[in-house]
Amino acid sequence: MKITFLGATGTVTGSCYLLETSEHKILIDFGLYQEENEDNSEINFDPKEIDAVLLTHSHIDHVGRIPLLFKKGFTGKVYCTNQTKELAVIMLKDSANIQERATEFENESRIKAGLDKKEPLYNMADVEISLAYFYPIPFNKKEAFNNVTFEFIESGHILGAASILIDIKENNYHETICFSGDLGNSGNLLLDPPKFNGECDYLVMESTYGNRIHEDVKLRSEKLGNILLDIYNNKEIGIIPTFSLGRTQNIILELKKLMKIDKYKALTNLPIYIDSPLGLKATKIYENNKESLKDNLMHEQNLFSLDNAHFIEELKETFTIMRSDNPKLIISSSGMCNGGKILFYLKEFLKSNLTNIIFIGYQAENTLGRKILEKTTSVFINKKEYKVNAKIHKINGYSAHADQTDLINFVTNLKKSPDIIFITHGEDDSREVLKDKLTEKGYRNIILPVKNKQIQM
Ligand SMILES: [Zn+2]
Repeated sequence: MKITFLGATGTVTGSCYLLETSEHKILIDFGLYQEENEDNSEINFDPKEIDAVLLTHSHIDHVGRIPLLFKKGFTGKVYCTNQTKELAVIMLKDSANIQERATEFENESRIKAGLDKKEPLYNMADVEISLAYFYPIPFNKKEAFNNVTFEFIESGHILGAASILIDIKENNYHETICFSGDLGNSGNLLLDPPKFNGECDYLVMESTYGNRIHEDVKLRSEKLGNILLDIYNNKEIGIIPTFSLGRTQNIILELKKLMKIDKYKALTNLPIYIDSPLGLKATKIYENNKESLKDNLMHEQNLFSLDNAHFIEELKETFTIMRSDNPKLIISSSGMCNGGKILFYLKEFLKSNLTNIIFIGYQAENTLGRKILEKTTSVFINKKEYKVNAKIHKINGYSAHADQTDLINFVTNLKKSPDIIFITHGEDDSREVLKDKLTEKGYRNIILPVKNKQIQM
């Protein structure tokens, strides 16, 4: 078999791998790049030749270019878990809206400049067509087409997220390859840690936090609790940029947990606004899939409600919140500040030294979130400059991603050492450090693939 690494090499977005056998061409994920200035329209293969797509999960950097694939002639099935399909519906519709709006905005200036109008990457109709080809299958159920057998195994990252184990028969000879998908943080409040502990000849694994160890569950709670107490006592503003999917639901549970601790009881009086239309939809899907969450959550009523938290549904409410008294905590998307409602709040509050921006998720290179995190004195949002006087906080412990220890555990839990380990989905420093750590543990043949490189196995 051959594999080409088409995305998420030296970066964490744009996940896509092309797996080829003598009979098949299979794509694993086809996600959007989320860094600025990346060209998402570039496709380095013929979509008409692809037999099937296997999808690890519904984050937009893994699923976000599937509609483009159909637009360019793909007609096969997209296999994923049941929950991934449910979530992909809201993620892709949201993405089509964003693409359409961004293109409209760009076309206004193009028309003024006498240039031809551009088409969006894809539109709602393309999304509807692609969703009709999504083919959900349950976790741990073997599915086959021709000489390919595969199964989805819980990866603990977000609802529905999976590692994919693929068995390929070629010339009467079987080989297995596992795509780890995004691996969950062992401190995830909603999901169990990654479950794949079998064996595979080849492993393609993520390395987002290959060079870092998260704060433990207790420390991250204290850090967050203390920041929020200060915000409450000093009548300040807290802004948590969160990913709609997974992180928003985890942070609600964490706030519920904190408010049960005596020291943080005062936080029950802190007005909390969750302003993420997509986050609200995702939260409803989480609520409806409680049987897929940790066992202790299955029977909890109103799992994601908090007396002092309010989900925002209308844009006019956003402006009301902006004018409302302090203290207040705003939880809004997108998680890397590269779009969404969070931009309203950043434009309004970045300049104030009463503002606390609390980053609880990964900020990819060349995103607005990364720039704010790196404490630049000003940033550009929609081409306008905004001063940054806000206090910047960072808590890694809430990441939906495995840290270095979790990643190493994922590999050491396997029944045998893979013949080759490919480290992807991480910046180069993370990949290098993880490679060194695995080498120290005796693993050999570890490759850090480069973009568009094809490797024959
Ligand atoms: Zn993900």
